[in-house]
Amino acid sequence: MAPLPFSEVVIAPEPLRRTLEQMLTRPSPPQSLLIVGMAGVGKRTLARSLAAAWLCPKRTAQGHCQTCLVCQKWSDTGEHPDLRVLKPEPEQIKIDAVREMRGWTSFAPAVAPLRFVIIEEAHRLNPAAANALLKTLEEPPPLYHFILTAPASDLLLPTILSRCRIVRLGVLTTESVLQRLKSRFELPEETLRTIAEFSEGAIGRAIRWAQALQSPESEGKGRQAHNELDALQKLLSLFARLGVASLEEALRLAYEFREACKALEGGTEERSPRAALALGLEYLIQWYRDSLALNYPNASLRFASHRQSLSQLARRFAPAERQRDLQSITEARRAILGNANAQIVTEHLFIQLLRAG
Ligand SMILES: [Zn+2]
Repeated sequence: MAPLPFSEVVIAPEPLRRTLEQMLTRPSPPQSLLIVGMAGVGKRTLARSLAAAWLCPKRTAQGHCQTCLVCQKWSDTGEHPDLRVLKPEPEQIKIDAVREMRGWTSFAPAVAPLRFVIIEEAHRLNPAAANALLKTLEEPPPLYHFILTAPASDLLLPTILSRCRIVRLGVLTTESVLQRLKSRFELPEETLRTIAEFSEGAIGRAIRWAQALQSPESEGKGRQAHNELDALQKLLSLFARLGVASLEEALRLAYEFREACKALEGGTEERSPRAALALGLEYLIQWYRDSLALNYPNASLRFASHRQSLSQLARRFAPAERQRDLQSITEARRAILGNANAQIVTEHLFIQLLRAG
């Protein structure tokens, strides 16, 4: 798919759109841009859309023109002679890929006035690759610009960070995701609501999911989307057990958690095993946030249909304990996104979550 024009990319928070529009109307793009945000908020969509806009000599604040000679060069699969995309294959971006890219940057642009390199999941650059990239960012070849994406800025080397202008993508409310899905998809409202709840405000994830569900179940993506829905239901019933399970069950729960997360691998976002586990932990974070929000009558719960299980957790552990647990889950997620051993991290985490009560 050719990139979406910038005006059609869903962007949260809303003021960010104006900042980016202003950036687009300047004569030249930033040398290096880093887009951060949790999985599925649309980092990849935005990166491609911005690159397409800056490649286009007729761009406006709405993005690329889609008709000029440069824009006509986008292939159906989203390739362009003046764009190179690096991504983890499958777990890491290795030095060979960066070297190959550096070789590419010794050539002049093919049709556009400049060239772009997108580095998806830049936190997956291995140390040698990160150092090689740093050299390129420090002395960028003329007419070459870079867009990096990552779940969080502190996962990158400070030396790389200091070279980048940072754009932070946020999430939408469940209700706002639901409205956008309803305007685009013919699926039953209940299904769309489930997608909106689970997308955690990440519109890109929600749209890809709904698209996959719309394709016949027998096809790869449709089947995967249905499997994902199943996996998420499993995760929720597992979270519900945190309100009642004994400490002896911790390892069992950790195992079931990892198994459920396996069904989230690949899929519409081509998630790596680590990204799948991190996503599972993001849902768990949301579960704990919901349990803490129960005290506030007007707070909107992400998992409003699971109020009873959330209350059970709230009765078992005091708010201060759940705050601390929330911290532990966040740290576990960070460790997983780094190189920590998934089994050790999840077992340690579930023991902690069940230790008192
Ligand atoms: Zn154009």
